[in-house]
Amino acid sequence: MIGNSRPSSEPKMPSHNKIIVPSHFNYIGIFLTLGCNLSCSYCINYLSGLDKLRRPLNTEQWIDVLNRLEVPNGLPLTIQGGEPSIHPGFFKILQGIREDLKIDLLTNLQFDVDEFAKHVSPQRFIREAPYASIRVSYHPETMDLPPLLDKIYKLHKLGYPIALYSVEIDKYKSELSMAKEMTERLGITFKLKELLGEFDGNLHGDMLYEGAVAAKELKSCECKTSELLVSPEAEVYRCHHDLYNRKFRTGDITASNFKIVDEYRTCHFFGNCNPCDIKIKNNRFQKHGHTSVTIKNIRPRDITQREETLA
Ligand code: SF4
Ligand code: SF4
Repeated sequence: MIGNSRPSSEPKMPSHNKIIVPSHFNYIGIFLTLGCNLSCSYCINYLSGLDKLRRPLNTEQWIDVLNRLEVPNGLPLTIQGGEPSIHPGFFKILQGIREDLKIDLLTNLQFDVDEFAKHVSPQRFIREAPYASIRVSYHPETMDLPPLLDKIYKLHKLGYPIALYSVEIDKYKSELSMAKEMTERLGITFKLKELLGEFDGNLHGDMLYEGAVAAKELKSCECKTSELLVSPEAEVYRCHHDLYNRKFRTGDITASNFKIVDEYRTCHFFGNCNPCDIKIKNNRFQKHGHTSVTIKNIRPRDITQREETLA
């Protein structure tokens, strides 16, 4: 999929080489940080493991690297995490991204929205899309609804395309139906997403590949992605499992010779896939039936000692 070369000890230097994102790619995920200011028990970041010892890029490095991207057909850069607003350069990064690049933001909105509105114009988020570009997550377990709705409404009135999302969890049924009612009463979209992964002994989510999630036995396969996923330290990974665990990085996006190579790669972690990657979902045009990765040649695990060491 992705190739590059830069020894890890070499400082990350600004570069002006363009990074061309293939025209069929469906998503660009920019993980400013994997840290979060909340702690939800069902957080998807932990489902297939999470290495939290990360050294994130600084503000200038992010701006430099994001502005090298050439993206197809208005595909937005989705700024996410963890909680992206805890990056110390959050506002500056949003301000520094080239104006022709579209931005989506996934956030729990724990930040000061007045400060946000002072620094980042609603125009940065306006684009043609069937869903809001600022998608706020509501987690009844860790958040209070009224102050959250106050903030959302304030941004909505200022012209930011914003919607509230939550995860379908049985024990929070009444909180979620209250949230839906209150949000829609304000004229703002509320969407429930399905719970993913293994909880309470059950596997949740509509997955394309049987045995890919929470399996007892790992297998080998060939896997190809339709996403550009960039970790907090600017490493590129072929899927969420690899990104969260720092396994088999496929490139360093700050390297001057970095380019996306769109091909199948061998993986030896089929069975511990993150549900995000193999769940059947809508593509960015809201057409159902898409998965982030395509997998073929699933077989008994044939990882070599050398590959194990490099992982
Ligand atoms: S707010 Fe989101 S990223 Fe943070 S702990 Fe909750 S689910 Fe995870
Ligand atoms: S098979 Fe699963 S773990 Fe391996 S690269 Fe594909 S999505 Fe990631």
